[in-house]
Amino acid sequence: MSVPYPRAGACLTIDLDAIRANYRALRALGAGADCAGVLKADAYGLGMPQVAAALDAEGCRNYFVAHLEEGIRLRQHLPAGRPVHVMHGAMPGTARDCLEHDLIPVLNDPGQLAEWRALAGELGRVLPAVLQVDTGMSRMGMARADFERLRQDPTWLDGLHLQLVMSHLACADEPDHPVNDLQRQRFEEVRALLPGVPASLANSSGVFLGAGYHFDLLRPGAALYGINPQPGNANPLAQAVSLAARVVQLRTVGAGDIIGYGARHVAKSERRIATIAIGYADGWLRALSGRSHAFVDGVAVPFVGNVSMDSITLDVTGIAEDRIAPGQPIDLLCAQQTVDDVAAQAGTIGYEVLTRLGSRFNRQYVGLAAWPPTR
Ligand SMILES: *Cc1c(COP(=O)(O)O)cnc(C)c1O
Repeated sequence: MSVPYPRAGACLTIDLDAIRANYRALRALGAGADCAGVLKADAYGLGMPQVAAALDAEGCRNYFVAHLEEGIRLRQHLPAGRPVHVMHGAMPGTARDCLEHDLIPVLNDPGQLAEWRALAGELGRVLPAVLQVDTGMSRMGMARADFERLRQDPTWLDGLHLQLVMSHLACADEPDHPVNDLQRQRFEEVRALLPGVPASLANSSGVFLGAGYHFDLLRPGAALYGINPQPGNANPLAQAVSLAARVVQLRTVGAGDIIGYGARHVAKSERRIATIAIGYADGWLRALSGRSHAFVDGVAVPFVGNVSMDSITLDVTGIAEDRIAPGQPIDLLCAQQTVDDVAAQAGTIGYEVLTRLGSRFNRQYVGLAAWPPTR
């Protein structure tokens, strides 16, 4: 693989065609349900503007972010009129900001509902809104008791056009977990109390729990970006990222020589060591020390010693001398090693590996037919 920008230590290639293909696959699984795109955290680290353009070109018409700031940014990269939902809602004092940027707050508690209604009243307008109810995760969304209490007041939705009722699954990546069905049942109950209001429950893994979880709108994030929604099963989605870091230096060490911080690795025999230009400051976690591999022409070379801030040492003894040289890109995310593989080695999940991908990489986008987007 080539690194077209020689100044950067590593090159991250983001395949927008793969993201588009994943969107199509998820939408097809949803059959009748519409499919939104979750673009929080800079589209899981892959670049919100580019991902937004790719999804929009694929027909995606509903977007979700976590923070208001993210919504303001995303709004700049979408054609006018695309609903952008802010999942943290309008926090105290931000309702006007939300409205001015044409963002729809997800109302998570009675306070957020009251504030959004107050703004509607002040302006004498009907404002769009999404209601989130907690069905068992106890993280975000209205508690069932609050929801019941609010409904006693016949005016509780005055000034609002409720466009969606949503909830979020805690265990969707474990298909047999009993909490899935419990949450689905509770969501059905809430939905029955809001007739005619479209409903949304499924994140990426939820899409794979079957039609009973699809409702009107799917809300995948991770699966769009190639993370396996069903750990344990083969990943039906396309990998969207590849990463290669360049060789800084090559050396030969002898038996007894130490490698890296803390002298945690000592060579048992003569070894050839390559130092590559990526480290934990680039999101290549220190927890990967001694537990991961890079790939030279598809051949695995192990990490030796501790991962440093800016560099990692590899044992490349098995690679012919003329197949590796300073400046050469060495693969870290490639056909042989996925984001989920690296996450497993680091003791975390693919979501964390993706969202920590560093800011020092040279970033290349492929499949940019729709970039810059034409309005
Ligand atoms: C992040 C998030 C999603 C997307 O989840 P994935 O598992 O990445 O598909 C959907 N809904 C809510 C409320 C979220 O916070």
